[in-house]
Formats: sequence, C-alpha cells, structure tokens
Amino acid sequence: MSSLTGRASAVACGLILLLSLQIVAQVPSPRSVLGFQPTDDRTIADWAQITDYFAKLDRASDKVLVREIGKSTLRKPMIAAFISAPANLRNLDKLQRISQKLADPRRVANPAELEGLIKDGKTIVSISCSIHSTEIVASQMSMNLAYELATAADDETREILENTVLLLIPSSNPDGIQIVADWYRKTLGTKSEGTSPPELYHHYAGHDNNRDWFMLNLAETQAITKLYWQEWFPQFVYDVHQMGQTGPRFVIPPFFDPPNPRIAPSILREVGLVGYKMAADLQAKGIAGVATNTTFDTWWHGGFRSAPYYHNSIGILSEAASADLMSPVTITREQLQRSRPARGLPSPLATDTAHPDAWEGGVWRPRDIAEIEMTASRALLSLAAKYRGRYLRNFYELGRANVQPDTNAPQAYVVMAGQPYAETVARFLEILKWQGIEVHRMTRELWVKHSKTEDFHEIPLNSFIVFTNQPQRNNILSLFEKQVYPNRVNANGEPDPPYDVAGWTLPLQMGVETYEIWDIRDLDKHRGTLTKVENIDQARAVLNLEPGGGPFAKFSNPLRTQPRIGLYKGNSGSMDEGWTRLVFDNFQMPYRSVTDTQVKSGELPYDVIILPADSENSIIRGLNADRYPAEISGGIGDGGATNLKKFVENGGKLICFDDSCELVIKRFGVPVKNVLSGVNRREFYNPGSVVKLDVDTKHPLARGMPEEAAAYFTNSSAFDVAQDANVRIVARYAGKDALMSGWMLGESRINDKAAMVEADLGKGKLIMFAFRPQHRGQTFGTFPLIFNSLEK
Ligand SMILES: [Zn+2]
Repeated sequence: MSSLTGRASAVACGLILLLSLQIVAQVPSPRSVLGFQPTDDRTIADWAQITDYFAKLDRASDKVLVREIGKSTLRKPMIAAFISAPANLRNLDKLQRISQKLADPRRVANPAELEGLIKDGKTIVSISCSIHSTEIVASQMSMNLAYELATAADDETREILENTVLLLIPSSNPDGIQIVADWYRKTLGTKSEGTSPPELYHHYAGHDNNRDWFMLNLAETQAITKLYWQEWFPQFVYDVHQMGQTGPRFVIPPFFDPPNPRIAPSILREVGLVGYKMAADLQAKGIAGVATNTTFDTWWHGGFRSAPYYHNSIGILSEAASADLMSPVTITREQLQRSRPARGLPSPLATDTAHPDAWEGGVWRPRDIAEIEMTASRALLSLAAKYRGRYLRNFYELGRANVQPDTNAPQAYVVMAGQPYAETVARFLEILKWQGIEVHRMTRELWVKHSKTEDFHEIPLNSFIVFTNQPQRNNILSLFEKQVYPNRVNANGEPDPPYDVAGWTLPLQMGVETYEIWDIRDLDKHRGTLTKVENIDQARAVLNLEPGGGPFAKFSNPLRTQPRIGLYKGNSGSMDEGWTRLVFDNFQMPYRSVTDTQVKSGELPYDVIILPADSENSIIRGLNADRYPAEISGGIGDGGATNLKKFVENGGKLICFDDSCELVIKRFGVPVKNVLSGVNRREFYNPGSVVKLDVDTKHPLARGMPEEAAAYFTNSSAFDVAQDANVRIVARYAGKDALMSGWMLGESRINDKAAMVEADLGKGKLIMFAFRPQHRGQTFGTFPLIFNSLEK
C-alpha cells in the first residue's frame, strides 16, 4: 500500500467520521433535552418531558418515528416510538401488512406467497415500560434505550435495526408517570421521599391496570390492544416491571408452574428461550441475582404479557428489584436472609440452576435497574433480529394450526338470542371483537349439538356464533371455557397459590348465556346464512339496541330513584374503590367520594355510603404517619367508625363489599359472622374463582337476577347469620358444586352460607356482600345486585 493511498483513505475515514459525528450530534441525547441523565439518582422525568424527548428524537432521527396511539384515562397522549432502520420506517405500511397476513394464515394464498412474506417481513417487537407507575425506572430507561438504538453504530445494533421493528411504549400508563413524578418531586428530601403516592396510580385500577387485558375496561388497554391485535400483531411483547426490594435482583422466564394448558407448548419454549438469552447476557456482564423459574406463572389470562400468548405471540415479563422510586436504597445481607421465600426460590441468597449467582447485598440504584433492563431489552431484540425468519414462520405456523379443525375442542360457541341484558351481551361481543375475535350472526335457525353425545337442538335466530377455528382459538377457549386449576397442594396440605386468580370465564362473570357447539347440522349447506359481524353496531342492531356511538360507549343509568351516593375513598389508594368508580362512571350514575376527613367529621349528607373491599385495619388506620404527612395519614379512626354506625342508625344505608364487612361485623354488633375468618389455607382456599349463588329472587334486592347466578370470589367471605327478624339473606353460596371456574379447597365451608345479607340497624340498613360484586369491573352478572342496593 503506497503512502499516498494510505493518506487518502485516512482523509476519507476522517471525513466519514466527521459526517457521522455530525449526524450523531443532531440526534439529541436525553441529557441534552432534560438537563440530567435519566435513571441517575433522584432524577425523574414526568410524562410531558418524556413525550417531549421522544418528539425531538422523532424530528432528529430517521430511525425513530413517534406516533400517538390513543389517549389515557385522564386524556394524556399515549405514544409508541417505532424504531428501525430508515428503509424499514419508510416501508412501515408494507411491513404492517406482512405481519397482519402472517397473523392470519387464511389470508396467505400459497407457499410462494408465504416465503415472500417471510423474506420481506421484519420481526415486530414491542417493549412496554412502567405500566405500574411506581415501577418507574423503565419509563426513564426507555429514553436511553431509544437514543442508543438511534445512534449506536455497532454490528449488533445495525442487525437489530435492519431485522426488527421495535414499538417502544415509554409507558402504558402515562397518567401514573405524571402522578408518581409529581409526588416524588414534592416529597424529595422529606420523610415521604420514595414512598408510593397517596392515590391510585391509575385513575380507576391502580395496580390492577395489569389485570384488564381480556376485559378492556380501561382506555390504555383498549389503545394498546388496538395497536397490537388490530394493527401490528407483534411476535414479541415485553412488559418491563419491578418488584420488592429484598428478593432477587431480576426475575425473568422460564416462569414457574403451572402453565396454562391453552398456551401452545412452543410458545412456552420460546418464552423460556428469551429468558435464558437475557440471563446469559446478564451473567456475561457479571450481574448477580438473576433468577428464572420463580414466582410468576403463566396460568392466568389478562396480563400485559399473558394476553399475547393467546395471539400466538411471545410475551415476556421481567421484574427488577426496586429502589425507593428514583432514590437509591441499601439492602443488607440480613434483609435478604429474612426475605420471604418465593415460589421456586427459598431465599435470594440460595443458589441453584435457576439462580446460580446470588446477590449479596449493597447499594441498589435506579441505574442498576436500568442497566439490567437495557441489557435484557437488547438480548430480546438481538434474538428477534438474528432469527427473524424463524420467528415469522413460527408465528404463521401457530395461527395455521389454530384454523385447522380440532375434534377435542368445541367447534364454536353460541351467544344465545333473547337474553335479558342486551347491553351486556353487546359489551361482551365488543370485547371479543376489539381483540380481533371473529363473531358471526345467523340469518336462519341452526340445529346444533351442545355436547359430543347429545341430540341436535335448535338455536334461535339472532344468536351469535363464535367459531373456534380462528387464529385466536386458544383465546376463545380460554375466555369461554371453565378453568380447572391443577390441585397443587404440598405434603403439609398447603395450597401453592397461583400468581393471580385461578378462574375468569368471561360469559359466567358477565352473566351472558353461552353454550358449546360440537356440531352444526349441514353446516356447509348453511354457511351462506352466517354473516360476519363487522362492527359492534351491527351486533347492536341484531340485539335491538341503538348504535353505541363509539367504541366502549357508556351505559345509561340503571337507577329508578336518585339516591345521594357516597363512595368511601381513603388515601391509601384502594383498587376496589377505583373499580367501583369505573362501574359508576360507565353507567353514568352520580356519586361523590367520601374522604377520611368527612367520615371523621360525621357530616355525611348521603342516602347510601359504600365501603369498598378494604380491610378494617386499612380503613381505620389508613396511611402510616411515619412516612406520610399528618393531613393524609391515619384513616377514619375509631371515631369515624362510630360516625358510620350513627349514619346507619339515623336512617342511612351502608353497603360493604367483602373485606370491609369485617369492620361492620366487629364494630356494629350485627348477628352475622364470617365463617372463613381465621380459617387456614389447608382448610379452605379460593384465590380467585367463579362460584355459584342461589339467589332469593323474591327479595327486592335481587330484582332482575336469575335464581342461579355466578359470583366472583377471591379470598372472600361467607356468612353465618343468626336467626333474627332483622337480618335477611338475599343470596347464598350453592349447597353443592359451588365452584364454577377456578380452584377451591374445602368448598363445604361455604356451601349454603350467606353470600349477601340485608340487616336493619336502627332506622337504617346494612347491605353486606361476602364476595366481590364488581370485581375488576368484570362481573356484569352481579352488577344488578349493586344497583338494586343503591336504590332509595
Ligand atoms: Zn408491576
């Protein structure tokens, strides 16, 4: 090589370096926009700053495109940053169409077309941060991740950008990011620094915002469900969480048992593979305390990362140990020693194959969390990029298997015509349709078999049919069928609790009448008489309902009287209170929130007050004064409880949901006892199941209810009622076979026990629900019991 050429290439290199530096210089770093490095100690970017940063990144980088995907509950913009190679971003429409076709193999004409789609398609990956807003670090980290992908020039990054389209959601709960940032700033340097805000971080759902992914009650769930399952069909969905402080540092898949049998085995394997890639990359960096196969299972449906399994997609959850919001903490070895054993991991100091390198304690900073989450995100992206073709083909194949006939599953489900609550039926169908499930209506009667063995029955015109041979077969089955949780009891007779609930069968929860169909007589002859429901107003028309006027339209107020309704709202942030508000708002029923101060004052100008399902202790004691300012700590106190009793004695009505009945039983002297109080889990256990009620339909509070109804029970109560003219039982748990879906040990403890009671007290009334009549806003079937209770 001559010196001249050498010099020329050095000059050329310098030029290229200069040019690329210029391009890099134009892309703003998070620090340059925010004035601090996100994830540094005691810094926090609120939602306005995060969206501002992403908007600037969008303008400056041809690798980042930011789109608004909807509005949050409190009307903040929700955003997704599409991050990919510039050529891919210019081709987004085409890439989206490819993903849509791969998601529905019926739209792929022939093998040649399939090969073309796989050749041209990109792996669609979504990473969503901080749905639980106190698990704040990922939302801050998302800016660093986006900047790094937009500016890094290494081979791995280039491969990621060329082969994947990343839909990065800086937070799936923007309202909560704002709430947490405001509280954190306000309390920085005070005794409250690093505490959770004294309100729900999702307006209605708090932590339960990650329990809504098949029900779609919340604006955020609706927006992201649309993005994922109507538009983009990601092959990967990664939801980034944090957990407690004194366990392992990071928990990732493979998950703990039991798996849900409706999740394709290959999905479980792919989930495990991603977890191990993350674990291996973290270990290579020398990061200790990474655990797999612990705590979190794949049983339950309805989580951000579990709903994707039912769309043939690979859902990943990670849980990092928390700091105190953005303030560092010091965790001692002793604290780790004392840490409660988790499922599959006896101690964070124990080592085994699933946790080979224990973290021994020390300072734990937001930056540590961010580094782990960045590494995990890149591990996923790199896998998705490297095996792009494989992932696209597997995604297609899963959908293809689901559209084949399966003689071991019902052929379809029928949603029966002529049900009393047409609006509920319409909402049920809308929930199915919104997540991409196809629904058909009938233009003539059909004869069907409801089981393999029985004779054909006629199903009436105006029923709806949901065939199971759709790409989402597993979703349909999981929503319609009864869950049978495996009987996981250890040698001591103690149940191994599922991570969340055990049963959720949607038609049961909503009180919608559906049946399995195992055969349709002359289906081929009648296929032309089945019409696909294209939009929910078509279904509403069949149900004789006016057009809804938009997705998830509100219902009309069901009350005949105009009671002054007060809903108790403490400062601890009660999810059950939030869900109650959601139901009232959705049904456009006026109410006011009742604060601790009001209860303490005794000024209670209401006809009816509701105590949501909170323990006596949390209502009476409230937030701890050691960490929270005096004006918001302390609950209603003993004086407040006395005032509530006086409110009833003077003619008011008090409605208690489940846990809050404890307060009334202990303090009001009613002849009602919770038979499950103090009973250990070996004797009775029900972590979240649908149970059968026998309803006294002659009682006015049961107006509009069927004699046999489904109710939601989650570590709930069951009442023994003394013979007393002042106490009436409105509903009982069924005398036998009370479990309809889920898991229940020791059922005889609740058989025939009272589930809903009305009691006179002075001039007023107490109405006590032993179960959850509006659990997570899902149990439409028992809403009428609430509405009747509210009437004057
Ligand atoms: Zn979480």
